[in-house]
Amino acid sequence: MDFFNSPVHSWYSLYKRDLPWRNTRNPYLIWLSEIILQQTRIDQGMAYYSRFAAEFPTISDLADAPEDQILKLWQGLGYYSRARNLHFTAKFIQQNYNGIFPDNYNTIRSLKGIGEYTAAAIASISFNLEYPTVDGNVYRVLSRFFGIADPIDTSSGKKTFNNLAIELIKGVDPGMHNQAIMEFGALQCTPKGPNCNQCPLKERCFAFLNQKITELPVKQNKTKQRDRHFNYLVLSHRNHTWIRKREGKDIWKNLFEFPFIETEDEISIEKLTTLTEFDRIISTTDQAIIENVSDWKIHILSHQRIHYRFVRIQLTDKINGTEDFIRVNKEDIFNFAVPKLLETYLNEYMKNV
Ligand code: SF4
Repeated sequence: MDFFNSPVHSWYSLYKRDLPWRNTRNPYLIWLSEIILQQTRIDQGMAYYSRFAAEFPTISDLADAPEDQILKLWQGLGYYSRARNLHFTAKFIQQNYNGIFPDNYNTIRSLKGIGEYTAAAIASISFNLEYPTVDGNVYRVLSRFFGIADPIDTSSGKKTFNNLAIELIKGVDPGMHNQAIMEFGALQCTPKGPNCNQCPLKERCFAFLNQKITELPVKQNKTKQRDRHFNYLVLSHRNHTWIRKREGKDIWKNLFEFPFIETEDEISIEKLTTLTEFDRIISTTDQAIIENVSDWKIHILSHQRIHYRFVRIQLTDKINGTEDFIRVNKEDIFNFAVPKLLETYLNEYMKNV
């Protein structure tokens, strides 16, 4: 894993920010900085960290302080339960461990207000223990560099990244290593506009080499997608077909489309022709010959998955049920703005007119 670690570590030694908690391995101060920085910008967090470290230089000082004083000092940071947990745990360490911060991961992790990430940060930075910190920055760097598309918000995805992070941290300075990847993600491999051109990883970075930067990392539940099923009816009578303009609050508003029937599922053509909606559009089914039924395909939108197919129907006589639609010459249909999936179909359809 040196091909990844070595450039990131070198980059870190050159470009890391000089932050006050980077000059200490004191577990109490590392803990303090980690709790303050949760959901807080670094520049804002720095001022709070300096005030807390000055006011309460040791765990005992924090444990002995009245809660009101702690909350007052915390004011403006929000999430006051973090301050209360900080105080509770300081008193707990004072009473149970004589004010000495525990030095093994499991005990640290068992303390109130300390989750997996914070425990790993303290264990690695203060006690040289090989526990990786896997935060949003780390997910991003690893998913892009190694090309991992497992969703970062699923337990199996988390496990994949965690296993990789465990491999990466073996045999290196764990505290420096954890901070290096997080800093790399925060400054170099940023969510938007990563500095790929001047990146020491670019020659082996999967996302850079495959133009996948905007697609990685993957989040499964970012947007819940709704499945819809569109049966487009491509009616044909002599040189004419029928379309309509989409209206109302739905996708593709004001674009044109063929008459279509939305169904719950990918239903069979037999079932489709028995629907009232089908009769309403076609009206005289005995004069409608189904010429061709395409396979179901899927068109992905940001919040919807459109399952769609085209049913080509030859009308043999005058039709009654298409008043809602505009009759157009088949060759003129290309003048209308249509959704992408229809455009693709029309380009195929055109060949067969
Ligand atoms: S090349 Fe770009 S995407 Fe890849 S690690 Fe570097 S900054 Fe991130």
